[in-house]
Amino acid sequence: MRKIALLGSTGSIGTQALDVAARHADRFQIIALTAHSSAEKLFAQARQFHPKLCGLVVEPESIPDDLRDVEWVFGPECIRAAATLAEANDVLVSVVGFAGLPAVMAALGAGKRVLLANKEALVAGGALVTEAARKAEQPLLPVDSEHSAVFQCLRARDTNAPSRLILTASGGPFRTWNAKDIENATVAQALKHPNWSMGRKITIDSASMMNKALEIIEARWLFDMPPEKIDVLIHPQSIVHSMVEFDDGGVLAQLGVPDMRLPILYAMAFPDRLTTGARPLDLAQAGSLTFEAPDRAKFPGMFLAYDALRAGGAACAMLNAANETAVEAFLAERIPFGRIWQVSRDTLEAAGAQPANTVEAVFEADALARRTARGILARMGA
Ligand code: MG
Repeated sequence: MRKIALLGSTGSIGTQALDVAARHADRFQIIALTAHSSAEKLFAQARQFHPKLCGLVVEPESIPDDLRDVEWVFGPECIRAAATLAEANDVLVSVVGFAGLPAVMAALGAGKRVLLANKEALVAGGALVTEAARKAEQPLLPVDSEHSAVFQCLRARDTNAPSRLILTASGGPFRTWNAKDIENATVAQALKHPNWSMGRKITIDSASMMNKALEIIEARWLFDMPPEKIDVLIHPQSIVHSMVEFDDGGVLAQLGVPDMRLPILYAMAFPDRLTTGARPLDLAQAGSLTFEAPDRAKFPGMFLAYDALRAGGAACAMLNAANETAVEAFLAERIPFGRIWQVSRDTLEAAGAQPANTVEAVFEADALARRTARGILARMGA
C-alpha cells in the first residue's frame, strides 16, 4: 500500500490520478490532497478518499461540517505541509507552474518519492532538483507522457547509455497552418488541441510548441542527456509517446492510446503495471503513424530551449517565466499568438545571465524575467 500526497488534486492530472487510485484502492491510499481554489471539488474528493490532510491555497469561506475531522491547512504553505506529511510515501506533484519547484524540493527534503507531473520544477531548478533527488536516494518518476515513455524505454537497456532521445509532439492545432496564420491565431483556435485534454496554459504551450521546449529541458535533467542529443519529432496521432535510440541504431518506442492515466498510473505503481481503464491500443484501427520534423518558421519558440540550455544558469527558469507572462497576455487577448515566443526571446536577451545555484536565486531570476517580460509587453502596447 503506497500512501500518496496529491498536490494539485482538482486539476486535469490530479483528477485522473484519483480515478486510477480509486480503481486500485488496495494499492493506493490518498493521505493528503491540496488544491489552489476549487474548494467544492476538493470537498467532494475528501469525502471519497478520506485523506488525513487537506489544503487550499485560497482559504474557503467555510469547511463543511462533515469534513471537520480532516486536518486543514490554508494558504501557500499547505503545499509544503502535504509534501512533507510524515505518513506519505509518495508525493504526486501536479500543481501548476512555478509553485512546483518548492513543492518538489520540500518533498525530496523530507525523503519522499516524487511523481513529477509539474514541468516547471525541472525547467526552473533542474540542477537543484536532481541533486536533491540524489541526496534523498529517491528516483524522480516522470508523469509527463513523453518522459514516462523515455523512462520506460530506458528500462530495457543493459549497460549502454542511449545515444539519442526522440521526444514526440502532436504538433498541436496549428501543425498544418502556415507561419503567417499561426502568428494571428485566436485564443479559441489555440485552445483546440486535437488529441489531449489539458489545462489552458499547457494547451496554449502545446499550440506554440513551447510545451516541447519545456520538455526538452525536462528531459535534459531527468535523463542527464546533453541538449544536442535530444530531438523532437512531430507525430500527430500521439500514439508513439517518445523513443530512445542506442549506439547500434536500435530505437525503442513506447506506444499507447493518448490517455494520461497510463503515465500517471505507471509512476504511481512503478515498477508494476496495473489496469488504467483506458481503451486498449488498436493499431489496425489507427491505420498509419506519421512523423515529420518540426518547422522552425512555424514553431520558433520550441528552439529557444536549446538556446536557454546552452546559456545555462537561470536561463531556462527565465524562459519559463517569460513564457508564462506572455501566455497570460495572450489569453487576455492583449497580444497576438505570434508575439508569445518573441517576448520570451527578448526577455532572455534583456535579462542577461543569472545564477541558479539556490532556490532563492531561481526565484529571483524568475521574478526578474517576469518584470522584464512585462516591460517588453508594455512596450508592445499590451
Ligand atoms: Mg508532455
